[in-house]
Amino acid sequence: MEIPNLILEMESSPKVQEDTDQKIDPDLSVKHDDEAHEAKKTEEKQNATRASTLDTILKSLWKISFFRKELISSFTEDELVSEHRDFILTHPMESNGVYDFLVTILDLLPRWNTGYEHDKSLKSMFEVYEMPKKMCNRCKTDTEYPLELAYGLLLIANSLREFKANSFLSFYYHVKTTLMLPCDKEGCGKRNYVERVINTLPSVFTIALEWENNETEEEISATTSVLATEFDISEIYKYEGDSIFTKYRLVSMVCLCGDQYNCMAYENNRWIRYFALNKEVIGDWNSVLSSFLKLKIRPEILFFQNVMGQSLV
Ligand SMILES: [Zn+2]
Repeated sequence: MEIPNLILEMESSPKVQEDTDQKIDPDLSVKHDDEAHEAKKTEEKQNATRASTLDTILKSLWKISFFRKELISSFTEDELVSEHRDFILTHPMESNGVYDFLVTILDLLPRWNTGYEHDKSLKSMFEVYEMPKKMCNRCKTDTEYPLELAYGLLLIANSLREFKANSFLSFYYHVKTTLMLPCDKEGCGKRNYVERVINTLPSVFTIALEWENNETEEEISATTSVLATEFDISEIYKYEGDSIFTKYRLVSMVCLCGDQYNCMAYENNRWIRYFALNKEVIGDWNSVLSSFLKLKIRPEILFFQNVMGQSLV
């Protein structure tokens, strides 16, 4: 696999290099070369890590049939992964966090708009527009807050454990129902819960888990056991739209295994783990949970697809 070096090239200016070389004595120059060589190696390693992380995210996106359906006429899976990884690597990325990578990919999606003829861009599949609303149960005054755009939920793995959640839904429900604000009507001021309302359903619901990466087996187990392969979005938000399809199923995951990202995907009624150029059949969800433990795998991004998409390609 060829890793593009564009970021590296942009950052080293030939002019500065020349000036520095003239001023230092030969011994230091050797050292300087060594350091430059080391720096280059570090940078190459970072680029290789970035590339393989992007590959895994793109592969996991491809496993979402809603997403794949829009691109299958223009790309094969390998083309999508390699072309878009190379394209994304030419853009500066401020962070190395996998969730930030996903956001970068989604932000760059409109520019690839090959063959996606709809009035919406591809990234809109992942967008959740939440409208926080509050109704005073004393004076019945409604308050609506500005729309908030999110790509699903970002949960802290640690808090899931500390809360001893029996499911991520119960955890999120707890988080969501603890937000109380006073009534805006003058003279009332009664504190009421803020509800999170959505009017449209995203095709794909993303849950990102933030780990510390030093978790023990017990901690990995305590966190992953609260995950579910299916949930109803109306248990997280107050849904005010009219679709009857409010259920979502887990279709793929971006997981960290050691210092490498793996893609886990649900294909032909079983879970498959993709790592480097290998493919391993894992089996059912319980086998996935066991493999998390055995291999110390931390799932970091989970893609759930609306059940309406189950019959697509
Ligand atoms: Zn009130």
